[in-house]
Amino acid sequence: MELSLADTKKWIELFVQKVESEKSQLNELDTAIGDGDHGTNMDRGMKAITDAFSKKEPEDIVSLHKTVAFALIQKVGGASGPLYGTAFLDMSKKAKDDADLTTLIQTGLAGLKRRGQSDVGMKTMIDVWEPVANALKADEFNQSVIDEALTSNKALVATKGRASYLEEKSKGHLDPGAQSSAYLFEALLTVLGA
Ligand code: ADP
Ligand code: MG
Ligand code: MG
Repeated sequence: MELSLADTKKWIELFVQKVESEKSQLNELDTAIGDGDHGTNMDRGMKAITDAFSKKEPEDIVSLHKTVAFALIQKVGGASGPLYGTAFLDMSKKAKDDADLTTLIQTGLAGLKRRGQSDVGMKTMIDVWEPVANALKADEFNQSVIDEALTSNKALVATKGRASYLEEKSKGHLDPGAQSSAYLFEALLTVLGA
């Protein structure tokens, strides 16, 4: 299934709104197991996306994803900027010949793993992307997929990113990037009308 350009834009705009309104929540999660800036970092990226959209209306899905990628790479900083940026840049490239939603999310996931040299189970945003990609493929994507992904993420010991410095103490805390990715996919669910 392909998302239309209008729905893709709506998806990103809902994500932007959600991250902006949950900025301090994301900072709090990062304060517990990182350096407390994930909300601030992502919020800068969200403003850059809004700016870029208003300067130049994306003409197709390829350019929309590319605009999002550049905004995130240039403005988010931290570990999450290049990671989210790579995911959206890879989705943009893929959309040139295949804009199937499942294919795009799988492509973004592969980009995250490559850029982060990481995989599912390391207590990162990948713990949300992977089950969502799998559920889309199985045509079983719904809110409980996201909820369960967050519950499993919380129980993990971090082995990548700043939270890994805490070792066992990272257990019982939700990873901030997993939470922001949950917002991304909740926004997608809204657009899908699910
Ligand atoms: P920083 O850690 O540089 O302050 P942020 O706080 O913005 O950057 O982002 C932290 C998030 O990035 C983590 O919560 C985690 O989800 C994600 N992350 C960090 N390192 C990796 C990695 N190697 N692979 C995947 N995700 C990662
Ligand atoms: Mg941080
Ligand atoms: Mg930081």
